Amino acid sequence: MKIKLLGAAGGEVTGSCYLVRTEKSAILIDCGMFQGGRDSEAKNLLPEGAKPDQVQAVLLTHGHLDHTGRVPLLIKHGFRGQIFSTIQTLQLAQIILQDSARLQEADAERQNRKHWEPGQPLMEPLYSPEHVEFMKELNQEVPFGEPIRITEDITARWIEAGHMLGSGSIELTVLEDGRKKVIAFSGDLGPLTMPLLRPFEHFHHADLVFMESTYGDRIHKSYDETVEEFERIVKEVSETGGKVLIPTFAIGRAQQLIYHMAEFYNTGRVKPFPVYLDSPMAIRATDVYRNHQDLLDEEFHMLKQKGAFPVDENYFITSESGESSKALNEVKGPCMILAGAGMCNGGRILHHLRHNLKDPNTHVVIVGFQSQGSLGRKLVEKAETVRIFGEEIPVKAKVHTLNGFSAHAGQNDLLEWFSHLAPSKPKVALVHGEDGPRVILSELIEKKFGIKPLLPEIGDLIEI
Ligand SMILES: [Zn+2]
Repeated sequence: MKIKLLGAAGGEVTGSCYLVRTEKSAILIDCGMFQGGRDSEAKNLLPEGAKPDQVQAVLLTHGHLDHTGRVPLLIKHGFRGQIFSTIQTLQLAQIILQDSARLQEADAERQNRKHWEPGQPLMEPLYSPEHVEFMKELNQEVPFGEPIRITEDITARWIEAGHMLGSGSIELTVLEDGRKKVIAFSGDLGPLTMPLLRPFEHFHHADLVFMESTYGDRIHKSYDETVEEFERIVKEVSETGGKVLIPTFAIGRAQQLIYHMAEFYNTGRVKPFPVYLDSPMAIRATDVYRNHQDLLDEEFHMLKQKGAFPVDENYFITSESGESSKALNEVKGPCMILAGAGMCNGGRILHHLRHNLKDPNTHVVIVGFQSQGSLGRKLVEKAETVRIFGEEIPVKAKVHTLNGFSAHAGQNDLLEWFSHLAPSKPKVALVHGEDGPRVILSELIEKKFGIKPLLPEIGDLIEI
């Protein structure tokens, strides 16, 4: 059996995709998009060696774009096999991929209008909303914990990965020459202390393990400290007025923040004020979380029993349309606005920042990673002015950076996840990490467990 790495290797964090070939089968584990600028996006081609009409199945670990973004492209090019995933992964992937399809269509249209010259081919989006929609026809829903037959010689089992709703690690069992071989894919793992989601579960035996290493070099700041800091900011606003602006990713972080606010309000820790969820995508994702509470953690269910949920609609207000978003300019504080994009490189948050950054009563709370050059990064680095829509805006607002809200496991949790597999002495390949973090994690695994991990590149073949 051979496994070819088609993304998220060689120091690359995006584009997760593996082609597993046995004597009788060819399947993909994840089929994600490369993200982060034009150079990465140029790699968004059909996975090499995986002919869409010959791949029998795609197995998804979770809904994020860097794990699902090339599935509609496969469909566009003739893939008609089955897509195995949890129902939550399918639903969240639909929200993310429909948004991505619309952005690509708008981008292609703009490029063609502005830069097209006679004789040149027109720029085409990678895929259209119909290709995303068609994923539903091919989807085979999988439960957690039970082995599912994928092809003649492959079965698979999903267990909780604690990274986003419905996220899983996948174990493949392949029957070859009368012998069973087991491969474990960690997928993206969440931190054990993250609220709302259940903690990740463990596999106990494998011949080969593909493990993520995003934060292989980092021990996260304690989650409790981060929530305490968040509570202090929210309390101050509740007492002194002003607006709290939070640039946030639509799925995961937004629901986590709503959860904490509901908890603060319902336990009387903070005097309630309105929280506006100003993002159609986040509103839809929140519905998916609401409809699948069986997958949420014990703490959530305890709070729910105490009456902390559902959240009070007088204080948690959704803003769907562009007009309702604009109307928030007139709202007086105290209030909180959650809006995308997470790195302030587009979206409704830009309008709110433009209107409110010059007000010293405004608080901007940064809760996620901000890449070099993004507007969010400039705010983190305490720029005195920032440019928004061509206008130079003075930053008088207070900017708070909270680093503890990560959705990826830190070093200790990664080692904990692997410690249950280590006794079976598997071959290990570290993926989904920049080279700094994955080399550090590799050295730790060697020291602690006496196993020297492989650090594969994109295009590498691993045979077992
Ligand atoms: Zn992810």
